[in-house]
Amino acid sequence: MKYSAPKGFQDILPPEISVWQRIEAAARSVFVKYGFHEIRLPIIEATDIFVRSIGEITDIVEKEMYTFRDKGDRSVTLRPEGTAGAVRCFVEHGLHNLPSPQKFYYAGPMFRYERPQKGRFRQFYQIGVEAFGAAQPALDAEIIAMLNDFLKSIGLLNLNFELNSIGCDVCRPVYKEALQLFFRDKISGFCPDCNRRYNTNILRILDCKVERCVELRGGAPAVSGHLCEHCRIHFDELTGLLETLDVPFSLNANLVRGLDYYTKTTFEVTSEHLGAQKAVAAGGRYDKLVKEFGGPDTPAIGFAIGMERLATLLQTVVPPEKAAPKVFVATLGKQADTEGLRITKSLRNNGLWVEPSYGGASLKSQLRKADRIGAEYAVILGENELSSGKAQWKNLKEGTQGEVALTELQAFFAKA
Ligand code: ATP
Ligand code: MG
Repeated sequence: MKYSAPKGFQDILPPEISVWQRIEAAARSVFVKYGFHEIRLPIIEATDIFVRSIGEITDIVEKEMYTFRDKGDRSVTLRPEGTAGAVRCFVEHGLHNLPSPQKFYYAGPMFRYERPQKGRFRQFYQIGVEAFGAAQPALDAEIIAMLNDFLKSIGLLNLNFELNSIGCDVCRPVYKEALQLFFRDKISGFCPDCNRRYNTNILRILDCKVERCVELRGGAPAVSGHLCEHCRIHFDELTGLLETLDVPFSLNANLVRGLDYYTKTTFEVTSEHLGAQKAVAAGGRYDKLVKEFGGPDTPAIGFAIGMERLATLLQTVVPPEKAAPKVFVATLGKQADTEGLRITKSLRNNGLWVEPSYGGASLKSQLRKADRIGAEYAVILGENELSSGKAQWKNLKEGTQGEVALTELQAFFAKA
C-alpha cells in the first residue's frame, strides 16, 4: 500500500520550512510593536458561523467549505478563514469590555475545497490580524502600514497595495442600483456565475476573473462616485494618512472581495510574480459583523496573508537556508560512544547544535556523514583519546585539524 497526502494538501519540509519560520518570526516581531496579541482559535467551528458571516452567495460557502456532521450530529466546518472565528471569540468572551481597540493576530491552517493549482491549495496557511473597536480611518491606516512594514521587513519591496471603499448600508444599495441599471442589457453575455450574482450579489460581478466578463464590465459605474459623505470622508482621510505614513498604494474601483461582511475599506496586496493567483494578502473593514454575532455594535478591520504565496515570493529573494550542525562527535567503541554523548550534551548546553554518531559505524563512514550533513567541525574520540584525555578535531570546511584536551572542549568551541 502506497500512501500520499490528500489532493490539495501538502507537506512543508526543511529546508523550505526555514522560509516559513522567517515569515512567522518577522510577523510576530512587527505585529507586537503595533500592539497586536496572538490568539489561538479552533480549527472547526459551527457551520452557521461561516454561513452567517461570509455570506450564503459566496464561492466559499456555496462550493468550498469542508462541512460534516460530527458524532453528536452537529454540522461543523473546517475553518475556511479566520475572521468569523475571531469575531465569535470576541463576542463569546465579552472582549468589548476591555479598552479599545483590541488587536489580535493568529496563524494557522485554513481549508477550502478548491481546484488545486499553483498558489491554490485545499489546506493553506494564513497569518491573520483583526482589530476591534475603532471606527476611525487611523486604524485602517495603521493596519495597512503594519502590513507594509511586515512585508518590507522580510525583504519584499515591489508589491502593489490596492485600495477601495465599498461603502456602507447607506450608500451601497444606491450603488447596487446603479450597477443593476448598467448590467441589465448586458448580463446575458456574462458567465453563468455572474448571471446568478446579478440577482444575489451584484458587486461580485466586478470581481469575476472570466475574461469575457472583465471585458464586458468595462465602463461600469465606479463605487467611488456613489459613496455617501460619511464613507467619502473616511476614505479621503485614509488615503491622506497612508501618504503621511509613506505607504504606497493605488486605487482599484473593482476591488470588492469575495466575502459579504466587508464595509468601507477593502485592500489587497498583489505581486506580478505569482501568475494567476497573485493576491498575497487581503483585508478590509467589517463594521457590522460583531453586532450580527450578538455583540455590541463594534467596528472592526482585519487582513489575512496567504503563507504559501508569500513563501513562494520570498524564496526568490532569500533562498531557503539549509541548517547545519556546528559539531559532529565521531566515536569508536562503547566507552567512547558514551563519553561522546556526554560531550554532545555539554556542548549543547553552551548553545551549539551538536550531533553525536549514535555508535556502530566506521570512522570513515562517520566522517562522510559529518560532511553530508554539513557539520563545520568533527570531534573524534576513540580508546586512545579517552586514555590520553585529548580528542582530535577537524575543521571540515577548512581542512585543518589538531588536538584538544577533553576538559578544554567547551572553551575551544566557544571561540571556534
Ligand atoms: P483568491 O482571489 O485568490 O481566491 P480569496 O479572495 O479567496 O483569494 P481571501 O479569502 O481574501 O482569498 O484570503 C486571503 C489570502 O489567503 C489570499 O490573498 C491568498 O493569499 C490566500 N488564499 C486564499 N485561498 C487560498 C488557497 N486556496 N490556497 C492558498 N492560498 C489561499
Ligand atoms: Mg478564493
